[in-house]
Amino acid sequence: MPFEARLAALSEAVRGCRKCEHLAAFRTQTVFGVGNPNAELMFVGEAPGADEDKQGEPFVGRAGELLTKIINAMGLTRDDVYIANVLKCRPDMPKGAPGNRPPTPLEMQRCLPYLREQIAIIQPRVLVALGKTAMAGLTGTDESMSAMRGRWFSFENIPLLSTYHPSYLLRNGSNAEKRKVWEDMLLVMEKLGMAISEKQRGFFRSAS
Ligand code: URA
Repeated sequence: MPFEARLAALSEAVRGCRKCEHLAAFRTQTVFGVGNPNAELMFVGEAPGADEDKQGEPFVGRAGELLTKIINAMGLTRDDVYIANVLKCRPDMPKGAPGNRPPTPLEMQRCLPYLREQIAIIQPRVLVALGKTAMAGLTGTDESMSAMRGRWFSFENIPLLSTYHPSYLLRNGSNAEKRKVWEDMLLVMEKLGMAISEKQRGFFRSAS
């Protein structure tokens, strides 16, 4: 089966998933993933938030806008890469409660086979985990983000780099923190053999 069809079949299975009854009851829809099924680069977040649950697409809220800017700064578009989450449902919230909550380890463990299969179909050359929770969902690690970022890990023999979640940068958008994420993206670009301009190398470098 061509891999677009395999992805579509997997998406259909996810749509009908009721492994977590509380999430199935709460969701507007499942949020499978978006982008190029041939992507060399795949970003993995933790779970859909309210905006993603409404639109059925990962990273479309404020954090998503920032992720799109990061992808564009790499000289790519959202259509060049693939974007998915460890969890395919929005974590449930008490009625009327604002915001989103992170997925639990059990929720991620139940959902991980879907992401595993997505990755097996797409076969990206590089994976980027966005934030500590996504990295924990993928690898089970409990290390701090500051200890993990900038180091290569491996998931099913695919090079895996973790960096701060874009929502962290929305809360703490100093040039120094932006530069850390950008240095991680430079590592990704190097790993993929992408051309990197001097201008790109200098993004968010402090003036001193
Ligand atoms: N945060 C995530 O981790 N994933 C999304 O899809 C949106 C926000």
